Amino acid sequence: MSAALKAIPPIEPLAHSLEATVALPKPLIIAFIRKEVHAWRERMLEGESADRETIEADISKKLTAFSRSRLQPVINGTGVLIHTNLGRSPLGKSAASALESIATGYSNLEFNLIDGTRGKRAGYLETALACLVQSEAATAVNNCAAALVLILRHLCSPERNEVIVSRSELVEIGGGFRVPEILETSGAKLVEVGATNKTHLEDYARAITPRTALVLKVHRSNFYIEGFTAEPEMAEIAELCRAQQIPLVEDLGSGAIMDTDQLAPIDHEPTPQETLKNGADLICFSGDKLLGGPQSGIIAGRADLVAGVKKEPFFRAVRCDKLILTVLQECIDEYLRTQAKPTETDIPNIKALALSTEQLQQRAAHWIQSLYSCKAQCRVVESMATTGGGTMPRSQIPSLAIQIQAAEISTNQLAKQLRTGDPAVVGYIQDKQLHLDLRSIFDWQDPLVIQRIKDIL
Ligand SMILES: *Cc1c(COP(=O)(O)O)cnc(C)c1O
Repeated sequence: MSAALKAIPPIEPLAHSLEATVALPKPLIIAFIRKEVHAWRERMLEGESADRETIEADISKKLTAFSRSRLQPVINGTGVLIHTNLGRSPLGKSAASALESIATGYSNLEFNLIDGTRGKRAGYLETALACLVQSEAATAVNNCAAALVLILRHLCSPERNEVIVSRSELVEIGGGFRVPEILETSGAKLVEVGATNKTHLEDYARAITPRTALVLKVHRSNFYIEGFTAEPEMAEIAELCRAQQIPLVEDLGSGAIMDTDQLAPIDHEPTPQETLKNGADLICFSGDKLLGGPQSGIIAGRADLVAGVKKEPFFRAVRCDKLILTVLQECIDEYLRTQAKPTETDIPNIKALALSTEQLQQRAAHWIQSLYSCKAQCRVVESMATTGGGTMPRSQIPSLAIQIQAAEISTNQLAKQLRTGDPAVVGYIQDKQLHLDLRSIFDWQDPLVIQRIKDIL
């Protein structure tokens, strides 16, 4: 053994000393150290040199970073309400408490309490969903991507596998979701119609053949096109499809149930209710975007088609578990109870969208007062929040942010300390200063963030 390798720390004692600083299970700490020690040994055999202190400090730093990657709560000061990196939609208090009671015991997931016999999974939820979106039937699966694949698999057959899509809707949602690729994995053959900026009803009509399985509309949820553009109304496409007996499907993506333009000064997002009324036979949308529920994909529309989708063998592979069903059931009931009064809803995204300027001003004043003694310059500035999560790309919701310029540490240091502490707080840097947008921070979190800032400064 070369003399330099003596600097490599023995694993057990190092694990013992690091156990006190990171709250991870010991076998995980040991496995982590073993891998790092191995890497150090390789590097030292190649000629790198270091003393034991350096090596231990390096391993300790990496282990701390690893422990911070464990799934944990984050306070969102970015102003992006549905932040895909921060877990999209937060849940309301009633959903959280329902989750606890179902999660910690048994439930009637597939059990009929009246007869004491086997029951239907998600029967209640499906009825409530259909009632909410005003469809004949509805169901839910793992996510919207799965919902679309399922619909395509059901409606396409070897004899009829052509799916007609406008060229303006061959979108990429992000995270490996591209409409042409989703079609391909579902055994469908893409038939593109129209041009990037314009598609006419005639384009759809000409593309229909005996091999057409369906016409697919994909909502442009994360971009918009402007200028010399045109597309037929949904109702016109629906009429064409009905005459030819071809199902019309729309992937709505966002799933806004409430009129978004009534909640905030933003665009109107097409709702599932409207799209179905305009003649779509089936729709699908995400559960954790504008709906504000758990990760899931909702399918709604004609009863025969929903029943067919549910009979697909693939349905079993993408079904929701009881925890998701519990949260989704709570979310849908909440909409049914408070649909007419958005201000009374328990759904955090909707509440955040509907927050008034006065409410934000009151909180901002309290923040400034509380941070008075900090070694920093804190100001309230006007900001722009967004819905985010690949929804409503034009939405700019007037908001307020707390701008903090620390006296003794840099903006980057302050941002990092806020991110890496407990609870983690994420803001954004603009004009070289840290900003925390109040619209995406819940009012009950205000004291937590204020305390974190006071501790740092
Ligand atoms: C976001 C989105 C999807 C994917 O939804 P997931 O629930 O994340 O799978 C699909 N289609 C559209 C139009 C979307 O906006």
